[in-house]
Parts: sequence; structure tokens; C-alpha cells
Amino acid sequence: MSGAARMIPAGSVASIGARTLRSVAELDDALLLPPDARAEDLARVGERYAVAVTPAMAALIDPNDPSDPIARQFIPDVAELEALPGEQSDPIGDLAHSPVPGIVHRYPDRVLLKAVHVCPVYCRFCFRREMVGPAGLGTLTTEELDRAIDYIAGRPEIWEVILTGGDPLVLSPRRLREITQRLAAIGHVRVVRFHTRVPVVDPDKVDAGLVDALKASGKTTYVALHANHPRELTADARAACARLIDAGIAMISQTVLLKGVNDDADVLTALMRAFVENRIRPYYLHHPDLAPGTSHFRLGLDEGRALVEQMRGRISGLCQPTYILDIPGGYGKVPVLSPAVREGDDGCFRIRDYRGGEHIYPPPAESSVANEKG
Ligand SMILES: *Cc1c(COP(=O)(O)O)cnc(C)c1O
Ligand code: SF4
Repeated sequence: MSGAARMIPAGSVASIGARTLRSVAELDDALLLPPDARAEDLARVGERYAVAVTPAMAALIDPNDPSDPIARQFIPDVAELEALPGEQSDPIGDLAHSPVPGIVHRYPDRVLLKAVHVCPVYCRFCFRREMVGPAGLGTLTTEELDRAIDYIAGRPEIWEVILTGGDPLVLSPRRLREITQRLAAIGHVRVVRFHTRVPVVDPDKVDAGLVDALKASGKTTYVALHANHPRELTADARAACARLIDAGIAMISQTVLLKGVNDDADVLTALMRAFVENRIRPYYLHHPDLAPGTSHFRLGLDEGRALVEQMRGRISGLCQPTYILDIPGGYGKVPVLSPAVREGDDGCFRIRDYRGGEHIYPPPAESSVANEKG
């Protein structure tokens, strides 16, 4: 297909259908591939990593803008085929801390419960990209879910259960309610937190049935919304968040700091302000993890630090997320702007984990794909 003559008004692609696009061929038919991209090359990316773009996100992509920050998050890029040394299939060490399927227990007082490894969209920078998608770790069986719930019930130190995945909000309200009601019976669990992109990427899914299912534990319920660019917070997305918050659910945000998407103080400021205006407290700004084929998204820790420092003081304290690094290998999260993270003379960072262990974090590696492009 020749891209030269294409001028497509932004938003028109939504009319193609109310269906999630699930392959490079479908993205091509919807005119969502960049004009200079070769569909055959991108198809190879699609064979390697899952692809999904919801109608809400497809509608936000401006196909005339080669550096569209929404497209960059969801449309496959040949750079993904280039895994660099140092990138890891399990960059934050989930598997090393998984005592039973579906549970990741890395910190004493909280566990991840990963009931599902499917997402409504597949982010090209995903830190769990080797685990999610149709070829990923799948959904917990009834027996596995029983064992995961037993694991939580048997450990009184577990104060918080964090449902993540994948995206737990892709489950039907009935399945979600089944899980939350079982958590209700565990007295020492006081907080249930959901990590999701659904209110932004599929806002209509957030209906009364879903809201009720999320709250069915009767515990204090948090929803952590993953969004990376202010344009994602459309009127529909804001309304979906309001339905959650008006029902008594507290919301926090998480954002991944991404080159070419939000590595700009004005964009980050607009995003954090949009969260706060919608009663969502900015929580984490994640440094991107060392997931395979994602080097084109990674900045240096020093660059991230400079961006976060630019926001401090200039904008409300409500709008300041904590800039966080998940130490590669599963050693836990650490705030980048803390004495635990020190820059060495060699461009490497020395990082101390919460148990006192020392780790080296490298500067961003040069991508040969980026070099070829010149
Ligand atoms: C990120 C993460 C958590 C949550 O950490 P918070 O700092 O409480 O947000 C819990 N468990 C694991 C394994 C994690 O990776
Ligand atoms: S929604 Fe989360 S888990 Fe799913 S692809 Fe995006 S980053 Fe990965």
C-alpha cells in the first residue's frame, strides 16, 4: 500500500467498526499502519508479540502523524524484533517469586494475584510481554484459583491483594465477583487493588455490574489506572473513572515513562493534572523495564530524573508521582530520586534494594535499528 496520497481525518477510523483489531492485517485494513511501514515486516512482530487495539484507542490515533503518541503505544514496530543483551523475558522476576501459579509474593504485606494473562490492548513496551496474550500464561483454572486463594488465606501477613495480569477487568463481572467474594472471607486482607487499563481503552465496559463486582469484597477497593498520555483521558474515559469513584472506589494512577510518548515535562504535567482533575491521585511513574525489543522506548535514568525534577515545585504537589524503577531480576521497586540510586562516573547507576543488596543499572544501549534510521 502506498501511503503518499493518504489523508485520513483523525477519528474516522472508528467508523470501521466497534471491534478490537487483533492483527497487523486488521490494522492495515483499518489504515492504522504508518505510511512507510511494510506490513510483511510488521506481521513478523505480530507473530512474536500479541496485538490488540480497541475501538476507543483506534479512534484516538491520528494516522497522518508519524509520531502519534497513541499509535506508538499500540501499533507494532520492527524495532521490537531486536532484543538487546541485558533485556530479559521476565525483567522484574515474577517467576522467581511465584510460590503457586497466579501469585507473585515479593514483599511481605502484599501479593499479586494474576488470574488472567489477557489484556484489552497490547502495549508494545509491556514488561510482561512474554507472559500475556493468546500464547501467554492463560487464565487460572478453578483448581489454581483455589490454591491461590488458599495461599492468601494461610498467610496473615498479607494485608493487600493486587489483582493484575494481564488486565483483571477483562474478566466478566461474574468471574470478578467470584474472586472478590472469596477475598471477602479472608479477614486479614484489608485492601483489594486492581491494576487496569480498561477505563481508558474500553470505557463502556465499566458499567454498574462491573463496579459492583469490583466492590464485592467489601474491603477498601483501589483501582490503579494505567495511562501514559493526556489524550487517553477522553470524555468517555473520564466518565468511566467517575462511575468507579462515585461508587466509593479510590483511584490512583500509574504511567510508564516512554520515549516518544510522554518524555516531555509539558506532556507529563498535562497527564498528571488530568488525573488529579478526575480525582485520580498520581501514584507511580515507572521507568520502563528491560523487556525484550523495547529499547526504542527507554530513556536513561538521568534523563527521567531531569524530567521529574522539572515538574517539582512548578506544579501542585497533588500532581507529583513517585518515579520508580523495578530493579531488574526481581529485587523490588526503588524510587529513582532517592539516596538508594546513585550515578557512577561510568554512566551506570548503583542501586540499593530495600533489603540492602547492591545492583548495577546500565545506561540505555544504542539500538542498531535506531542507528540504521539515522
Ligand atoms: C509492584 C509490585 C507490587 C506493588 O508494589 P507497591 O509499591 O505497593 O505499589 C507488589 N508485588 C509485586 C510483586 C510487585 O511487582
Ligand atoms: S495492559 Fe499492562 S499487562 Fe497488558 S500489555 Fe499493557 S502493559 Fe502489558
